[in-house]
Amino acid sequence: MEKCDSRCISNQSDEAMELARLYKDNKKPNHRIVQINNKNYTMRWDHHTHTIYSHGKGKVIDNVREALSKGLDSIAISDHGPGHLTYGMKRKDFIKLRQDVEAVNTILPDFKVFMSVEANIVNGGKFNNYLDISKEEIEKEFDFIIAGYHYGIPNAHCIANWTSDRFGIGTANKRRLMIQNTDMVIGALYSNPIKILTHPGDKGPFDIQEIAKACENCNTLMEINGKHAHLTTDEIKICSKYDVNFVISSDAHHPKYVGEFEHSLRRALEAGLDVKRIVNIDVV
Ligand SMILES: [Zn+2]
Ligand SMILES: [Zn+2]
Repeated sequence: MEKCDSRCISNQSDEAMELARLYKDNKKPNHRIVQINNKNYTMRWDHHTHTIYSHGKGKVIDNVREALSKGLDSIAISDHGPGHLTYGMKRKDFIKLRQDVEAVNTILPDFKVFMSVEANIVNGGKFNNYLDISKEEIEKEFDFIIAGYHYGIPNAHCIANWTSDRFGIGTANKRRLMIQNTDMVIGALYSNPIKILTHPGDKGPFDIQEIAKACENCNTLMEINGKHAHLTTDEIKICSKYDVNFVISSDAHHPKYVGEFEHSLRRALEAGLDVKRIVNIDVV
């Protein structure tokens, strides 16, 4: 029999039962309110969170506990795609993550955990879909996928982007790199059903206008990320000229950050974005 480790399903079922008892009879807290300039805002769901299946600090149940305490209706577990050289999810863990997710969904019917993945955007890649997961995996393994650009991935211009970010780069080379980066992102958007493009514009030069156009055509949400500075206020201003919607995600790598949205919302408000265009934020 397999040894019961820290993410063992029976442990998580017990913890989920405990949560179910705690929130019995509708005792789930109301959505947490953040007040900015005399207006009250709440977040309904957070579909970009990490766990120990990649390099987050908590288990699925820990993210759920935090989400419930802040009154969220659902979260997604979206650990890093398997293409990342150091902290990508292991393919053999897909089944374990699914079991953890279902354990919570069975026991807590009023709350939903989605099994997702933050796929890595690559330059074509071995699956020819500009991601580190295949179309078959997208269909079979996940409720939906989100995707973003990261360092530490083979065949994704990572060294050029990292060097350019740390030490600068000449104008002509920067322009070339921007075209390559933007092509990768647009390729991924058109080749896959991506629900959220995570932290667009982060970790290299990107043509945010072209990316916004592709998100409009592909009906992909543009993320205002709580852990990274992108979308920046200026990028939000540019993207909002297109018919795209936005989402705020915590990108929590520790359970305590699940459901955090204030910093991202402040960027959006500073950019003059109509909050109705942020699909998971309500004015109350
Ligand atoms: Zn990311
Ligand atoms: Zn992330």
